[in-house]
Amino acid sequence: MSTVHAYGFSSPTSPCRPLDIDRRDPGPHDVLFDIAYCGICHSDIHTARSEWSQATYPLVVGHEITGIVREVGSEVTDFKPGDKVGVGCMVDSCGHCRYCQQGLEQFCDQAVFTYGQIGRDGRMTQGGYSQAIVVSDHFVFHIPEVIPLDQCAPLLCAGITTYSPLKRWVEPGMQVAVIGLGGLGHVGVQIAAAMGAEVSVISHTRSKEADGLAFGAKHYYATTEPGTFEHLAGQFDVILSTVSSTEDYTSYINCLTKTGAVINVGMPATPIELKLRALSPRKTLQGSLIGGCAETAEMLQFCADHNVRPRIELIDGDQITQAYDQVVHSAVRYRYVIDADSLGAR
Ligand code: NAP
Ligand code: ZN
Repeated sequence: MSTVHAYGFSSPTSPCRPLDIDRRDPGPHDVLFDIAYCGICHSDIHTARSEWSQATYPLVVGHEITGIVREVGSEVTDFKPGDKVGVGCMVDSCGHCRYCQQGLEQFCDQAVFTYGQIGRDGRMTQGGYSQAIVVSDHFVFHIPEVIPLDQCAPLLCAGITTYSPLKRWVEPGMQVAVIGLGGLGHVGVQIAAAMGAEVSVISHTRSKEADGLAFGAKHYYATTEPGTFEHLAGQFDVILSTVSSTEDYTSYINCLTKTGAVINVGMPATPIELKLRALSPRKTLQGSLIGGCAETAEMLQFCADHNVRPRIELIDGDQITQAYDQVVHSAVRYRYVIDADSLGAR
């Protein structure tokens, strides 16, 4: 067991403060790595503030983690000290159920998420706002050499969460809309454009229009302007919603072609209400939850090959509380990433 410095929460309303956590000694299949960077995902905020369900405190969140391997267990063959690696939202699963067999580890009943869950060692998992982490090797990814570790961190959640559904649905030439230009949305726009789609951004306002077009969108619409949804009726083959609050799904569904699909990845604190009659004639409404391990490795290579790069702002540990407020107010451009070097200062 070793103690590492971290930043975490003592209650749903506390600021993010320095605290120490224990990490287990690496077992035969474990990788111990020194964390260099960790992105701030809106899911961290929902969890830290107990917006989805009551969290267990003290709690260290963070699941967009990159760093450098320090030590590997005796059975680990794919990693060695000095390797650049990353970890996303999961740190373990059973390895043999139907979902694990299909590379859908995120749906395994025994999947262990990176923070706030009881791990296989019987201890609560604590996330990446910390100096080091120990993770089962199946859930550790090599970072492509061309992507800097700080820019790569958000790909471990925002990247795979948008890549997975876009890969399922998008074909070159399709009309694709991404709703919400935040952490997930700005990566989703880049990925959909790289897949050959004609991409539209649908945002609250025009304040991010220049950025949306720079990320690869051809069109940009603002939902606060009257008539936007009427104008877009029947237009999109695929709509990817990344909005972090409750939304008007009926309007989105009206914007689909007759065979189009709305994919929802946003997970608001309050439930979404649906009026399903609007799904005719042959429209699809689908959920999506991060992505499996093989697909995450594939996504990292795709982003390396197609120059998909999160736009980040580096912050120190003592800026996390303020950064959360900026994210909640849609003022982030476009992902805060914590420099783990700053977490050791006491
Ligand atoms: P984010 O950076 O805060 O982006 C969310 C965007 O939603 C904002 O930039 C804003 O876009 C829009 N938005 C925010 N408040 C809104 C409101 N009141 N009304 C309408 N639109 C609003 O968050 P994120 O990290 O990308 O995460 C987005 C959501 O996805 C969160 O709920 C998160 O928990 C969830 N998530 C799900 C998965 C999964 O596997 N399914 C994985 C990661 C995250 P505009 O300003 O452009 O309108
Ligand atoms: Zn996330």
